[in-house]
Amino acid sequence: MNGAILALLALFADSGPAEWNAGLARKVITPTESVWMSGYAARTRPSENTLHDLWAKAVALRDGQGECVVFVTTDLIGFPQELTDEVAARVREKHQLERRQLVLNASHTHGGPLIWPNLHVMLDPDPDAQRRLINYRHQLVEDLVDVVGAALADLSPATLSIGHGSAGFAANRRRPTPQGYRLGVMPQGPVDHDVPVLKIAAPDGKLRAVLFGYACHNTTLSSDCYQIHGDYAGFAQIEIEKALPETTAMFIALCGADQNPHPRGTVELAVQHGAELAREVQRVLADSLVPVRSRIHSAYDEVPLDFAAKDRSVYEEELNVENVYRKRRAEIVLAAMDAGRPIRHVPLPIQAVALGDSLVLVALGGEVVVDYSLRLKKEYPQTDLIVAGYTNSVPCYIPSLRVLREGGYEPDDSMIYYGQPGPFAESVEETVVNACHRLLAQVGVNLPSSETK
Ligand SMILES: [Zn+2]
Repeated sequence: MNGAILALLALFADSGPAEWNAGLARKVITPTESVWMSGYAARTRPSENTLHDLWAKAVALRDGQGECVVFVTTDLIGFPQELTDEVAARVREKHQLERRQLVLNASHTHGGPLIWPNLHVMLDPDPDAQRRLINYRHQLVEDLVDVVGAALADLSPATLSIGHGSAGFAANRRRPTPQGYRLGVMPQGPVDHDVPVLKIAAPDGKLRAVLFGYACHNTTLSSDCYQIHGDYAGFAQIEIEKALPETTAMFIALCGADQNPHPRGTVELAVQHGAELAREVQRVLADSLVPVRSRIHSAYDEVPLDFAAKDRSVYEEELNVENVYRKRRAEIVLAAMDAGRPIRHVPLPIQAVALGDSLVLVALGGEVVVDYSLRLKKEYPQTDLIVAGYTNSVPCYIPSLRVLREGGYEPDDSMIYYGQPGPFAESVEETVVNACHRLLAQVGVNLPSSETK
């Protein structure tokens, strides 16, 4: 054997990226009948038609030791915990995947259906509209279970590599005013413009899939749009798949709860932001990416987050206010008290998935403000962290302590629409961050020592 062949054999014998297996699947999840769209209280009627299809897409990864994880991305607003539990139970039974091995992310488009019963306080659909939403939800569970199975059935050798880009259209939306924090544009507020790009290719280098993320509300279009759509994230995926045929483009919503696209309000702007993101993803793909070694570690937990204690009388008074949303929220909270199970806390799913030696996805439930992503990335400077929100379930917003103390829509008013009793206790940020530390340690990533050398 000559030297060149020996060198080639050594290359393949190395525990290199060729030990990955990846499988892909996708399914249209566009509602087949007119349904209420979720995210804006100002909508007055159900959807009229479709701007483009909504998708559930899955990528299954298997490392050299046979360990698996499946990432599912969807053009949806967010999942109720009951739905995720049902999908996870079915996937466990059918495909023997543990809870920690399934990641379900929603793009948080406000152009998709209401996922019953999340955010129904906003719209209060009549019984017939409710029936359509419940039908949609039943079908969605089937589709999600199917897409996971199809991705697992598609496993074939692959390589993984990671890179990062940046896009500037996310603007902090918490504007201080003499009347308190209001939704608007706050150029000086914190942002995270990172665009992580995970490339999945065949051993011959042919691109198979790209997972990319961004920390920004998927809300370029506003409440006057009654066409089903995936907003900028939907357009970005369509753009990438048009430019790179036979590639599956998958969008992961990161910690963009206090970020809005800027400017916003028209289909043209949603197309424009999607195109900006798509161009950046393609630029990163063409750049030198870092190979990811074949290794998966995953961990999952549900962490109870306490609400600030409030007296029953607060909600009894709320029953008499003009605001119909406050009234509906008060009814939910009081009914829970009457049933002997007052809502004192909410379980937040938190998941960590390590790929290779230094890449980790920390995926949080809820609408997570950008402070969490910025804090965790700062705390783990040696780790390539992707911090996602909108994963597994979205019970409400997850403010940082700063945002909680400042008040405004994210920590206070949004709780009404989610049917939650009110703002979190001040322990919220430390509870979430401590759980992230614990889960990161479980996947082999420890906090750098705080001791000074
Ligand atoms: Zn939101």
